[in-house]
Amino acid sequence: MIQKSNSTVSVNLSTIGSNIETLSTHVQDNVRIMGVVKADAYGHGATEVAEYIQPQVDAFAVNDIEEGIELREHGISKPILVFAVPEKRFVTEYRVHNLTATVSAIEHFDWLPAGTSYHLNFDTGMGRLGFLPEQVETVAELVDNNADLFCTGVYSHLATADTAGSERVIRQYKLVKKIRSYLNQELTIHIANTGGTVFYDFDQFSMVRLGIGMYGYAPGDSVIEGIQPALTWKSRLVQVKKIQATDAISYGAEWQAPQDGYIGVIPVGYEDGIKRNLSGNLTVLIGGKRYDVVGNITMNFCMVYLRSDQYSVGEKVELLFQGNTAKEWAQKVGTIPYEILTSINPKIPRTYIS
Ligand SMILES: *Cc1c(COP(=O)(O)O)cnc(C)c1O
Repeated sequence: MIQKSNSTVSVNLSTIGSNIETLSTHVQDNVRIMGVVKADAYGHGATEVAEYIQPQVDAFAVNDIEEGIELREHGISKPILVFAVPEKRFVTEYRVHNLTATVSAIEHFDWLPAGTSYHLNFDTGMGRLGFLPEQVETVAELVDNNADLFCTGVYSHLATADTAGSERVIRQYKLVKKIRSYLNQELTIHIANTGGTVFYDFDQFSMVRLGIGMYGYAPGDSVIEGIQPALTWKSRLVQVKKIQATDAISYGAEWQAPQDGYIGVIPVGYEDGIKRNLSGNLTVLIGGKRYDVVGNITMNFCMVYLRSDQYSVGEKVELLFQGNTAKEWAQKVGTIPYEILTSINPKIPRTYIS
């Protein structure tokens, strides 16, 4: 992919490493860690993140099979679970690349070729993928009748673990315990995401699946002590112009300068992942000072009101940084940090420090 030159995302890999250390204090003894690196590691870069954290985790999870293939092509050797529903056309790829499939419907037993490893997925309350708990006896029979496939695990996904104290989480946990009693006791069982791991003290079974916490964010409005965002995003001023009081800026001419001063143009917009809903509600850091982005955010540019400060073209602009993180952006536009992080255009180059 040809990369964009309008901005740079920097990822601090050692921050991700120390976030995993912090989260490990919530992981019970003999429970393994699966690092969730789907969606290009939540926008951080799956290959680089997986290579760095491989010594700290026991397995990886991706959503799509091609994400798993990419990790294998870069030499990632630990088990990789693919969450998505298998695509009939691509079912041979699991075995070829030593990827673990998710079996979440009866027909998948027919589709997967001999020699494929898989985990069963049960829907215990998420309302998304998976067998229903009442199907467990049928599923157990299908596992036995398909002995040319290798069932190595069982999992389920929590719907309400973002904060502590959800009854639904406990109900889901109890259903998984019940499901387990019908299946081979050697299987790897996993249910907890970041929230389930940190905010609940139920039995974590064999493994936890850590996503957002590794990248330094808590799910929902909760806080996880000791973790730090690993990603920052910077751009530059590409134009600086003098404006006079009442001059209007951007589409709709909705913002007018309160007094004479300067406007800087930043070459990032909603194509890059600066949500248009942030218009009128975003600040950036230039020369250590905060300035407001003004007027409507456009597809490839946004404008910053520099007040009376005159900066040169080329001046560094910090977009996402400590104190103005994906969580703050998410709160402003009524979404979650996951969406902000995965909206950063993948063509923007990622640079890594460790
Ligand atoms: C994304 C995902 C996770 C990770 O969730 P976090 O909240 O990011 O920790 C775990 N399990 C499944 C099935 C997922 O889709």
